[in-house]
Amino acid sequence: MFEIRPTAYGGRGCFATCEIARGTRVHCAPTPFTAVIFRDFRKEVCGYCFAYDLGRAWKIRLRGTEIAGLWFCSEGCRERWVNEEDPSGELVPVLELIEQTVALARRKLQSSKAGEYDEDFVTEDFSFEDDAIEKLWEQVDGLLTSNSVTANPLRNPILKNRILALEDIEYDSARLIAVAIVRLFLETYTGSTPPWFTWSGFAGLESHEKDLINRLPALLESHIRVYIFLKAVMPKKFQAFVTSGNVRAVLGRESANAFGIWQLPLTTESECLGSSIFPSASYFNHSCDPNVMKTRTGRQMHFTTSRFVKKGEELCISYGMMLTMAAKARQDLLQEQWYFKCGCGRCTIELATAA
Ligand SMILES: [Zn+2]
Ligand SMILES: [Zn+2]
Repeated sequence: MFEIRPTAYGGRGCFATCEIARGTRVHCAPTPFTAVIFRDFRKEVCGYCFAYDLGRAWKIRLRGTEIAGLWFCSEGCRERWVNEEDPSGELVPVLELIEQTVALARRKLQSSKAGEYDEDFVTEDFSFEDDAIEKLWEQVDGLLTSNSVTANPLRNPILKNRILALEDIEYDSARLIAVAIVRLFLETYTGSTPPWFTWSGFAGLESHEKDLINRLPALLESHIRVYIFLKAVMPKKFQAFVTSGNVRAVLGRESANAFGIWQLPLTTESECLGSSIFPSASYFNHSCDPNVMKTRTGRQMHFTTSRFVKKGEELCISYGMMLTMAAKARQDLLQEQWYFKCGCGRCTIELATAA
């Protein structure tokens, strides 16, 4: 129904290979490559179907774990998560370790002044030019190699305070990355790769690491903390995949390719409950006059035409809730969050009229 090919304005996009009637489902992404429910909401959002009932905490937990950071709205959702999301059983112990370390770090933090550290990697006079960022990551890798991270990092003063200083959003990033790394591990050793689970499909997405760090330089230090944390908590067998390259790959792709997990039904009041990455859906470009609507049903993302589409026309979605905004405001938002200047037909006309 559509093909992915280069666009005239850069990058790739989805183009109709035939006429498509209004209301046709052109794509269904069955489950995210990786997803995380934000820490504030994790007890209130079902780990499988993402159901959210206005802040009511779900009661059903994974069997045999203390935390793992997952709550479910029903027994059925728990079973489906186990069977579909973690059939190998490799993911649960990793999530459990992350949560145990978080809990331990938070307890330590309450009882001491730990968590403050004064030797930032990113010093005030740090220049973000040329290969400075690459060199910094090499320095971090050097430090980790010489500090034997697997031997209780919470006893290592250089690593300990960085781990204790992690904020909620950094734990969320760590979970998002951990899921992706377990996928990569399984893909490498078992070859189990349903089409939506391939690392290469994911790594083929554009990275916006540089744009992100230029916009918010403090994130570089934060990314380093997340990496150190993962290096410290991921079990030994995954360590070959916990590289700065892989961690940066996820962080760089999350920034502009993630789909927010929004409270349903979607209104302007909806809460953003988490973040998810659907590589197969990331080729839909943005238009302020989109011809495709994205809707979430449980873990699935559906893409449906909202009007008749001509053969050869590009299929576009709207990246955020911005269609009622003025052209200038949309342009600013897209530049800030998605790093591009929107050149859609609607923007072209509205900006020309405004000028
Ligand atoms: Zn559920
Ligand atoms: Zn536009």
